[in-house]
Amino acid sequence: MKILLTVGHSILKSGACTSADGRPYGGVLEYSYNKGIVNRIAEYLRTAEHAVDVLICPELQFSKSTDEKTYKLERANSGGYDLVAELHLNASKLHNARGCEVLYTSAEGKKVAQRISDQLATAFKNRGISDRDNLYMLTKTNPVAVMIESFFCDSSADCEIAEKTDVALLIATGIHGAEIATDSGANGAEENESFLYRVQTGAFRSRDNADRLRADLVGKGYEAFVAVADVDGILYRVQVGAFQNKENADKMKSRLQADGFDAIIVRA
Ligand SMILES: [Zn+2]
Repeated sequence: MKILLTVGHSILKSGACTSADGRPYGGVLEYSYNKGIVNRIAEYLRTAEHAVDVLICPELQFSKSTDEKTYKLERANSGGYDLVAELHLNASKLHNARGCEVLYTSAEGKKVAQRISDQLATAFKNRGISDRDNLYMLTKTNPVAVMIESFFCDSSADCEIAEKTDVALLIATGIHGAEIATDSGANGAEENESFLYRVQTGAFRSRDNADRLRADLVGKGYEAFVAVADVDGILYRVQVGAFQNKENADKMKSRLQADGFDAIIVRA
């Protein structure tokens, strides 16, 4: 099969991530987790003789999440793919839900979704598969398509299981439809996340204080946002920009300091 693996969501120009963030609840950032395992899924599938491309939205370029749609659909519909599988993680309002779920809309998609679901359910609570007609990666893609919600990013219990499980292998096996021979030594523990330099102008326990500083920054023309972190309780970090390159982060830091703001560079 010719397969396209896509990572759901992106990091926008402002540095904000469009995905769910389970970190304040002892979980993981959906986007980073999937970016961390996508290449391993691809490797497993190549071992099983599939041709695989990986698609991750460019970081720090889009101004809004809908830019992801155009970017991905153009590529998903022009590569001659038999299957498009997009990686997501679930999240719930009360941060208390658990389990795996795979979404599809076509009859062919249903079969693939069932196989992936059966694999993921060997590790996670089984929420089954569901037919969804309101998701563009399912309805606007020409190849057979599935969206995989491997587990809940805001469930520390699910994330604990994920840490001990080769989730990439489960997904690859489900897509392939049969066991994949693996080198011993491959496991789910190592992830190659790339880090960004973020310029932080303040960190607050109170959301109001963070929002006030953010508004101040936005008023002065900065694209500031509030990132939520869990450091002995919830911490609201006000950040401006995210950079792959340290020099650019330094420049932003100097600009902010010249404007009278505190600024430090953090890696995340
Ligand atoms: Zn998602």
